[in-house]
Amino acid sequence: MTRRFDTKLLPEGLRATGYSVDGATLAIDAEIMEAEVICPGCGQRSSRRHGRYVRHLMDFPAHGRAVQVRLSVRRFRCVASHCSITTFSEKVPDCLACRHGRRTGRFQDLVAYLGRAMGGRPAQALGCRLRFGVSKDTFLRGAASGARTTGPEPRVIGIDDWAWRKGQRYGTLICDLERRTVIDLLPDREPATVAA
Ligand SMILES: [Zn+2]
Repeated sequence: MTRRFDTKLLPEGLRATGYSVDGATLAIDAEIMEAEVICPGCGQRSSRRHGRYVRHLMDFPAHGRAVQVRLSVRRFRCVASHCSITTFSEKVPDCLACRHGRRTGRFQDLVAYLGRAMGGRPAQALGCRLRFGVSKDTFLRGAASGARTTGPEPRVIGIDDWAWRKGQRYGTLICDLERRTVIDLLPDREPATVAA
């Protein structure tokens, strides 16, 4: 069953077209507000629709439920006769969701912040209570994508290994033990990489 949902509760630039509650998940159907889009091949505007597909993006949890945005991404037909592109998808702005991302931009920012502030396992424990549906490694990857490189010199550091992919690929986690923050995440566990 699909019902109306207040668009103001969604990330800016999205319009809600309905929602449904399925157990512990609130699913919100949404679309991008732009009526026309620009062809990436020739730069001409087009409003000629040519189908759509759905991207699933996790957003801030609400009312004790995980929230999933079912974003309908439209495809358009280019109307320019000289253009080599026949059809193309509308661009999803990076602030809404990064390319191939599985979370909204604002939710990904929060995941990265918690990963940096708390580290992977404590962030996962908190996220589990809040229905984030995010693994320890996702918190750590989020931390790695925005690891801080400025600030006071750390005086006491900790070094540990962590899994990019469990059982297959491991990296090195360097953290500031006094401030309890992640300093950097290295791509491997080699002593030379740590020394560098
Ligand atoms: Zn075109």
